[in-house]
Amino acid sequence: MTAMGVVNKISRAVRRWKELKKEPLHLEFIVTDYCNLNCRGCTHYSPLARKEFVAIDELKRDMAHLGAVCGSEVEDVYLIGGETLLYPQLDEAMDALRGSFPSQRLYVFTNGLILGRMDDGFWESARRNKAIIAITRYPVKFDYDAVESLCAQEGVEVRVFGDRRQADTFFRFALDPEGRQNKYVSHFKCYNRGCVSVVDGYVYPCSISACIKHLNRTGETKFEHRRGDRIAVGDVRSAAQIKRLRDHAVPFCSYCKNPPKTVAYGLSKREISEWVDKK
Ligand code: SF4
Ligand code: SF4
Repeated sequence: MTAMGVVNKISRAVRRWKELKKEPLHLEFIVTDYCNLNCRGCTHYSPLARKEFVAIDELKRDMAHLGAVCGSEVEDVYLIGGETLLYPQLDEAMDALRGSFPSQRLYVFTNGLILGRMDDGFWESARRNKAIIAITRYPVKFDYDAVESLCAQEGVEVRVFGDRRQADTFFRFALDPEGRQNKYVSHFKCYNRGCVSVVDGYVYPCSISACIKHLNRTGETKFEHRRGDRIAVGDVRSAAQIKRLRDHAVPFCSYCKNPPKTVAYGLSKREISEWVDKK
């Protein structure tokens, strides 16, 4: 590459970094990683997750604290999984999230498969809290148009957030168990950056780090959180603190082989090689 080529590459990188820093903050409250689908390479490791749900009191406490210390600087809040609609106290979770973030866009993420089975309490809570149902479409036999119409009939806004029915529209985020990657390069090339995730009393920069317990529980990996990888919710004092976590490489980034590869959608065989490159 010529000297001019190098200069251009660096200035493009600096421009992109500055743009990323201006991105609005959104917070993803994970309610469960358990799911009724089984997608290979899921970024929440859902195929490995047990049928567990975050305690509603813990969820409410985290929402209340973050809403109080930085709510005005948060643009969107999500309830996310796993399959969010499986969460037993979803109506209450929507109320609590709206109570803590009164003016933010509130999304409930779902693969949509059980939307048709949700009860009146769910729809009433979604309307009351002005929730937006955020559907990701997967290549499974399912009438997505019908559930979108159902949302409209129920008077609840719906948006398709991702359409993964085409070939090669799934990302494989591979991890290096030895942590040999350059964390700055990994972070710069990361597609999961910005997915600030709140779970188990901590704020994480991404779901890859937030949900790693499911992979470690197999006993085949030992990915560790080190100082700087996450912030205890109770220690958060400002949105700037969370933005710093989001916008800078953290030690965990040295596990990530970025950018991720695009791969065809497939079902998980629950093998760690779907997420981990041992070589
Ligand atoms: S539907 Fe989403 S959360 Fe569930 S396994 Fe697939 S990618 Fe993961
Ligand atoms: S740990 Fe860093 S590089 Fe890895 S997914 Fe999260 S933000 Fe991206």
